[in-house]
Amino acid sequence: MESYDIIIIGAGPAGLNAAKILGDAGRKVLLLEKNPEIGPKICAGGLTRKSIRYLNLPEEIIDYKYNKIVFNSPHFRSSIKFDDIFFYTVDRKNLGQWQLEKINRNFVDVRKNTHVIRIEKDHIITKENQKIGFNYLIGADGSNSIVRRHLKLKTRLAGVAIQYKIPLGTFKDFEIFMHSKFFNAWYSWIFPHKDHISIGYGYPQKLFSPIRAQKKFEQWARSKNINLENAVREAFLINCDYRGFRFGNIFLSGDSAGMASGFTGEGIYQALVSGEDIAKIILDKNHRPKKIRSAVREKRIHEAMLFLVICSSFFRDLVFDSITLLVRVKLFGKTLIRILS
Ligand SMILES: Cc1cc2nc3c(=O)[nH]c(=O)nc-3n(C[C@H](O)[C@H](O)[C@H](O)COP(=O)(O)OP(=O)(O)OC[C@H]3O[C@@H](n4cnc5c(N)ncnc54)[C@H](O)[C@@H]3O)c2cc1C
Repeated sequence: MESYDIIIIGAGPAGLNAAKILGDAGRKVLLLEKNPEIGPKICAGGLTRKSIRYLNLPEEIIDYKYNKIVFNSPHFRSSIKFDDIFFYTVDRKNLGQWQLEKINRNFVDVRKNTHVIRIEKDHIITKENQKIGFNYLIGADGSNSIVRRHLKLKTRLAGVAIQYKIPLGTFKDFEIFMHSKFFNAWYSWIFPHKDHISIGYGYPQKLFSPIRAQKKFEQWARSKNINLENAVREAFLINCDYRGFRFGNIFLSGDSAGMASGFTGEGIYQALVSGEDIAKIILDKNHRPKKIRSAVREKRIHEAMLFLVICSSFFRDLVFDSITLLVRVKLFGKTLIRILS
């Protein structure tokens, strides 16, 4: 049986980052991706402050940079500007290709079009019935992870995020809309890109019916004169149910580990840093996963904030209005952006 020291399933931000670090250290790695292309993923492509610092992206990868955000609530609209850039938009294909270029291909074999359909104790099985052995397995296969299912971990906290890609022209700003009538305790976003504008929303998978959520969103879009007729509609799960990342010689990273924020839906940063920490633990068993721990701590803070918003019940729009007014006070605005990004 063909065999590798480390197999990584999934070439998203988590898998690509883990592969880079392991390949740079001269470990024999096999990176498996079911899609024919590395990078494309249903995602609004928003990178916050911490991802920007972490990635140090070249200009050509960035669609737009923002030092301004517009908050919208039922009765108010506040536009706040900071000294520093704190938000980028990127195309996921470009991000994936850029990460791929950085991988040391002398040590990392990348196989596209390779769908892993089963996992056994010491080998994986692909759709083509190929068996490949491993010493370590990294699950970087996203929110619908086969590795997570193999570990029999439950996923109770998952969100569905939906985006409409609309043609350029209508919006130029990075905007957030909070309105309980349409989005309950969550929000809708506008993230402009070079070739489209991503407009979307999210909701917890177990609490709301997709049809009802879609109807509400379309109602909201009509109220804002947003034409969704020619828009491309895309939806995917975001797993937020973190239950650990190490299970013997099997690891879970990024969305497969449930590391995304249940409040903001951000998951790219968590994927990158969990890929890094896991790779470093494989290289050095004494490595302390400080970045994973800090990302999980931040995720818990986000989810506590979400819990407060949910508890505000009938007063939720009052909370949203207050936030939208309070962000005009620089210290409050800065602190909120720091917590959320
Ligand atoms: C609509 C939407 C908008 C979002 N917007 C943002 C945003 O603006 N900012 C942000 O930070 N996050 C956002 N997210 C979340 C973000 O997309 C994820 O958190 C992030 O992509 C997780 O990275 P990952 O590497 O863990 O997994 P993924 O990026 O999902 O990568 C997993 C890879 O594994 C592959 N794979 C899966 N199963 C198998 C298999 N069996 N065999 C082989 N390959 C497999 C997949 O094809 C994929 O390439 C959004 C999510 C959605 C759904």
